[in-house]
Amino acid sequence: MPTRPSDLLAAAYSDADRTIELRRQLHRHPEIGLHLPRTQAAVLEAFAELPLEVTTGTTTSSVVAVLRGARPGPTYLLRADMDALPVHEDSGLPFASQVPGAMHACGHDTHVAMLVGAARLLAARREELAGQVVFMVQPGEEGFHGARYMLDEGLLDVVPEAPVSGAFALHVSSTLASGSVNVRPGPMMAAADQWRMTLRGRGGHASEPHAAADPIPVAAEIVLALQAMVTRRVDVFDPAVVTVAHIEAGSTNNVIPDTAYLEGTIRTLSAERRADVVASVRRVATHVAAAHELELHWEHIEGYPVTINDPGMAAQVLETAAELLGRQASVLMPAPLMGAEDFSYVLQRVPGVMAWLGACPPGVDAATAPANHSNLVVFDEEPLPAGVALYAQMALQALPG
Ligand SMILES: [Zn+2]
Repeated sequence: MPTRPSDLLAAAYSDADRTIELRRQLHRHPEIGLHLPRTQAAVLEAFAELPLEVTTGTTTSSVVAVLRGARPGPTYLLRADMDALPVHEDSGLPFASQVPGAMHACGHDTHVAMLVGAARLLAARREELAGQVVFMVQPGEEGFHGARYMLDEGLLDVVPEAPVSGAFALHVSSTLASGSVNVRPGPMMAAADQWRMTLRGRGGHASEPHAAADPIPVAAEIVLALQAMVTRRVDVFDPAVVTVAHIEAGSTNNVIPDTAYLEGTIRTLSAERRADVVASVRRVATHVAAAHELELHWEHIEGYPVTINDPGMAAQVLETAAELLGRQASVLMPAPLMGAEDFSYVLQRVPGVMAWLGACPPGVDAATAPANHSNLVVFDEEPLPAGVALYAQMALQALPG
């Protein structure tokens, strides 16, 4: 008999203490980047009691575990990220970070705990699985391209006879209703590119600008020209955000500096728009600088690609969430989020879906709650068993025994 959704959820709730205990243990000891030895050790310890084939990364602290079902079949991947942020925690929680300058401010500690909980549920239901579940526990989601390292190390071929053919990831949000599952088909998260530019002019006396080549008004003109470019050249139905987030020039009131520095971000929702806007930012800035006989040095730092959900699998998440948690908990998102996610690299290779689990704390207004990445952010732990059950149910449905 396949496990009924209500029984799966009940099993996740009866295991909630272990899920929350692991979450808090990770929360106290956050680690940043691609090398997370303490976090990796906690994951390996939790996996050790389960019938999993476990391998660790050679270039990072990643962990890959394979659960083989009772019968052969395809391979389905469940992903959790496990890195923290360089933020000093001010949440006041009793289990707050004990590491100065590091905090699980994006809830990746909850993701690891939920994935481990799902591994326990699925290991107890191997009889119901025809195929393999791959548990992907990745470092370096916060800008370090951790998922890409794992793909390069053969993540998708960890079961050689059945390469990964579907993938699911869950992410908590402190500003979505607690226990809600939020997803949409198609673009889910943006591509994020950074750019930097240095305008080189000629310094001089502030009273004689004609004898200098002042980069400050040119920098100001570039800021405005970029906004005009976005509104006049970008189709509103394939949008872009260009933000100048940092600008620096000069040192005092009576000196014209010789350089001005600007940097910012470009967010887009399609590969075509992304290429077009990156080229347009460079072109506009270069030509505005040239018009004033200034040189421009430009640097583009490629970030994560667009995270694109498979439409059929997004519909399946909505259906599964409704079955497990009730209709009201299953939410079709009206629009993508303009943040970025390196699960996008996995979704470039296999059809899959990423969903958000609402974790706004009780008594807090979601509209004004400190958001993910805030030093004050708090995630409600109550919906974690729901996330455990959702992870497990996605795999059970993908690999029906
Ligand atoms: Zn995150």
